[in-house]
Amino acid sequence: MDYQNLANTYETPLYIYDFNDIKSRYLELKNSFSARKSLICYAVKANSNLSLLKFLANLGCGFDCVSFNEVKKALLAGAKNYNIILSGVGKRDDEIEEAIKSNILMINVESKAELLQIEKISQNLNNKTRISIRVNPNIDPKTHPYISTGLKENKFGVSIELAKWMYLYAKKSDFLDPVGIHFHIGSQLLDEQPIIEASKIIADLMKSLKALDIDIKFFDVGGGIGVDYEDEKTINLYNYTQGILSSLNGQDVTIVCEPGRFLVAKSGKLLTKVLYEKENLGKRFVIVDAAMSELLRPSLYQAFHNIKALKPYENLSKCDVVGPICESGDFLGKDINLPNLNSGDLLLIEDSGAYGFSMASNYNSRLKPAAICVLDDKIQLICKKESFEDLIKNEVEFLGNFDEKH
Ligand SMILES: *Cc1c(COP(=O)(O)O)cnc(C)c1O
Repeated sequence: MDYQNLANTYETPLYIYDFNDIKSRYLELKNSFSARKSLICYAVKANSNLSLLKFLANLGCGFDCVSFNEVKKALLAGAKNYNIILSGVGKRDDEIEEAIKSNILMINVESKAELLQIEKISQNLNNKTRISIRVNPNIDPKTHPYISTGLKENKFGVSIELAKWMYLYAKKSDFLDPVGIHFHIGSQLLDEQPIIEASKIIADLMKSLKALDIDIKFFDVGGGIGVDYEDEKTINLYNYTQGILSSLNGQDVTIVCEPGRFLVAKSGKLLTKVLYEKENLGKRFVIVDAAMSELLRPSLYQAFHNIKALKPYENLSKCDVVGPICESGDFLGKDINLPNLNSGDLLLIEDSGAYGFSMASNYNSRLKPAAICVLDDKIQLICKKESFEDLIKNEVEFLGNFDEKH
């Protein structure tokens, strides 16, 4: 790939997504469940670019959304309503109402109060709403504390006891249809064992619900399949799916899986240009034109991203690759071995396809960069670089004549 040419055409920083890679990962996961009914629901929050969603929808992929705007984006991208799930720990009334009207597959419920609220809204709309309950299996996923979600100290889901009560309540309601059961214990999981363990706990719960005449049709194992940012050993997909299947002990359900990062992280690269090199008392810094505003993961989770120079690897020395933002936490990589760099040299920040653009901000009044996709050696722009006009378009001039008194 001619990165210099891409930098000249689209400017830097620039997101580059390999759609062939996304396709092969989707098919790999889908096929690993081939022995059973399954629905892969891509976690839209990982990267909600419309072209990317459309590409996945065309492969038959479903979508796991955490706001109604994500549902709207999925529908706009051509997703079928019956392949869309709405999750999220704090859904607003208007989001619940819109989700019901859109007749999506199910709403994942995260608390008793939310269950009662969904029932009330369903009653107003005279609808029997399909729901799934997110159960917190109290399992340690052994990942970064910020992305662990399945322990009792995390805000997500409900206990097994409360879940039972909620299923019984929903079963009796004229306006709720409990069709699914859900858990999601965390992100960037590198070992399948915690998921399989959780799967067993939830499958047992499902069995006891069956005895109460509550027939669950969708067994949603969440997302969280990790990727090798730093040559880590990752989940073995065969063991993962076999473990989940065997935990079901013959119970006949559709398995729902909500991968975000697994499908898109490795597909993406962030192309950035060196602005300056500098040295502070012997410490080498490479200042680039990308920053935490385009890739927050290093700042937020001390996450590692491989950074590659597009020039010969000679005279290597360690450096911190940092952005121009006025924060000490604005770094993209620490202690990276890179050759001598000159202003204008290009670097690639790898594995930036997930939680890159979707966490991007305008901090320091920076403009969000463009994104392109690569498919079969062809390139297409899929998101324009923001303009200064975009940046200020919602701001209203202060004229001194007030709307009303407060
Ligand atoms: C974030 C999230 C996912 C996706 O997580 P990944 O680590 O990107 O796979 C799936 N399901 C739920 C409920 C989530 O919150």
